[in-house]
Amino acid sequence: LLRLDEVSVRFGRRDALDAVDLDVAEHETVCVLGPSGSGKSTMLRVVAGLQRPDAGRVWLAGRDQSGVPTHRRGVGLMFQDHQLFPQRDVGGNVAFGLRMRKVGRAEADRRVAELLELVGLPGAQRRPVDSLSGGEQQRVALARALAPRPKLLMLDEPLGQLDRGLRERLVVELRELFERLGTTVLAVTHDQGEAFALADRVVVMENGRIAQTGTPLEVWQRPATEFVARFLGFDN
Ligand code: ATP
Ligand code: MG
Repeated sequence: LLRLDEVSVRFGRRDALDAVDLDVAEHETVCVLGPSGSGKSTMLRVVAGLQRPDAGRVWLAGRDQSGVPTHRRGVGLMFQDHQLFPQRDVGGNVAFGLRMRKVGRAEADRRVAELLELVGLPGAQRRPVDSLSGGEQQRVALARALAPRPKLLMLDEPLGQLDRGLRERLVVELRELFERLGTTVLAVTHDQGEAFALADRVVVMENGRIAQTGTPLEVWQRPATEFVARFLGFDN
């Protein structure tokens, strides 16, 4: 479904991404791990069309995405700094992408209710977003990204601000949801437990390059480099 072909992004003299190749198959959930500044968010931004690569190409469903604007790429995005629309209530935020896609009112209401239930905020439709805690806002942003049911969903630290109990419950429910909807997922996370629970495959980034990719078990049992082993915490 998704292919990155030697994608590079430079900021000044630094390569945020350095000739990255990556294939993501339909229905696959891939989690991107790596230290701060290793290029994880940049990768998602390039796929979404929010960052132009300096070299290389992004392919989605067999189509070269060069010059294709974000709203034509059919991808869903949830940012690290999830920006909700403060002038809309919770329901309005979650339904935002549905109006544009001409989903009917009744269906939109149904999906919003279902997603708010999923993220643990049942019945919160009419609450103003500025009355929510950071973690609650993050859950609304997650529901908003899921609502249009994009073929490729990209999540940047979707559960970062949530407490462990909620995270563990959501990981299980998200996996079920992705399976049910056939969603392909590319997710960035700092949390190894989350990556290993959610992912069919993990990608470990180091300085704009992919240090290793494999199933969670493969990476865990056989880290390809010392960097990966150290990142996974094997020597401390
Ligand atoms: P984190 O885990 O902290 O979110 P990350 O892996 O997502 O980190 P990126 O945001 O992709 O990292 O950044 C990769 C590198 O590119 C970093 O060195 C960062 O400072 C740099 N960078 C990212 N965006 C820009 C920008 N707009 N202008 C200049 N440098 C940038
Ligand atoms: Mg980031």
